[in-house]
Amino acid sequence: MSEIVFPPQRPARTKIVATVGPACDSEEMLTQLMLCGVTVFRLNMAHGSGTEDAQRRLDSIRLAASKLCRPIGVLADLAGPKMRLGEIAGGSYFCDPKIPIRFVRGEQVSAPNTFTTTYDCLIDDVNVGDSVMLADGTVTLRVSEKNSDSIVCNVLQGGFVRSRQGVNLPGVKLSIRTLQPHDIVHAKWAVGAGVDFLGLSFVRSADDVHELREILAETAHENTGLFGEIPHIIAKIEKQEAVEKIDEIIDAANGVMVARGDLGVELDIARIATVQKMIINTCRRKLKPVIVATQMLESMHTHTIPTRAEATDVANAILDGADATMLSGETAVGEYPIESVKMMNRIAEETEKFIPKKAWANYADDKFPHHFSEHHRNGKSVTNAICEAAVKLAETIDAKRILIASRSGVSVMGLSNLRSSAQIIGTSHNPRVLNRMNLYWGVIPIMNVPEEPRDSLREIVEVGKRAGRFERGDRLVLVSTMGHSTVNHNIIYAHVVD
Ligand code: PEP
Repeated sequence: MSEIVFPPQRPARTKIVATVGPACDSEEMLTQLMLCGVTVFRLNMAHGSGTEDAQRRLDSIRLAASKLCRPIGVLADLAGPKMRLGEIAGGSYFCDPKIPIRFVRGEQVSAPNTFTTTYDCLIDDVNVGDSVMLADGTVTLRVSEKNSDSIVCNVLQGGFVRSRQGVNLPGVKLSIRTLQPHDIVHAKWAVGAGVDFLGLSFVRSADDVHELREILAETAHENTGLFGEIPHIIAKIEKQEAVEKIDEIIDAANGVMVARGDLGVELDIARIATVQKMIINTCRRKLKPVIVATQMLESMHTHTIPTRAEATDVANAILDGADATMLSGETAVGEYPIESVKMMNRIAEETEKFIPKKAWANYADDKFPHHFSEHHRNGKSVTNAICEAAVKLAETIDAKRILIASRSGVSVMGLSNLRSSAQIIGTSHNPRVLNRMNLYWGVIPIMNVPEEPRDSLREIVEVGKRAGRFERGDRLVLVSTMGHSTVNHNIIYAHVVD
């Protein structure tokens, strides 16, 4: 077995998700980004050549991580039914409030103020009075007339639009399926490629999540003849319908992304901050990791420092209780990917000093997902009680670290949710579980441990001592399972390093 390697101290406990693109997809850059604090890389399946680019980037990420001897999370983000404008005559057009716009079916346009879209059912789905938002919500139209083959819209808020820019229909019930054929191809690839998380864009109900999970399970079965590991599903909340069904979607998914790009167009932008807080609170209660995404350090595409408002936004997402904050174009195509990650890490480090101790203790609904639910008695799961007790014990004996060995990672997520001031070192003999720990707030995953949980913790203590990370007299809290139990964390012990 390879040796256990302690990652260098990573000051910030909030996890950073960085989107991979041409600005950072070399092995050298990926290594640098990991060293600066990235714990999860995001592959945006809407861009590039689909699985070919994604596989090349995934290989570089895995290679860079293996050279650093640390687990890394990879999130493949499915494009979903993103609607776009078709080709506009001349490439761009100024939507003038005095000139109505007509949308027609097909791909051919006859006049500059006549548009087509990639969404075949647009004309069927909208009604007079509905809004049509273009170009990230910078242009607002209102449907004034509907015929069998076209709609006419008044321009409420004018502006320039270009070919292929995004179209949003806030509040309109879409007839299109959430999982598009290209998403299914990408999801099947992700299972075979061993991707850790799959982002489900434009999710509208728990059924969307169940449908994806079935496809993943079938693919894993076809690939291996066994029902093996499948990527964890991250539901991207970016539609009003998803906000309305937030409880059932979070229950169905393994984690959530507050995808503020589309959410800020689909919803009144004035509601974004409060909806973000509501989603994060609900995730925390349901013990699911939550990522806050989009425009976090937007100006760092071209500047070495962010605006005051952006720095405050990252800090507020952390104070709201996010597990991770995300960089999009800043790392994918921006001029300063490394500076952006360093800045996000620095803001997190400063902000975390103000997360109140014990802020989240007893906060969870005590709804441990999956198999843990069967261990509930009077509403308390054994695992939750053990995690709470571990945090309390660490406080009482002033232990700076809690070490936890986990088979599925669920208990690590529960421990992370308590926001203990003690550092959490998580381990598992399953590399996929370790990769996923990279999304859980405050958890440092350690790989190459023995299979037996208690042996793995003993080994980490020994290696930690040799590496000078634990000193004689240091107090540690260890959380593990007994040999005969397969699901519960039922041992806590205090250990003083000798
Ligand atoms: C978003 O809309 O905020 C988002 C993260 O999704 P995408 O980048 O796929 O548009």
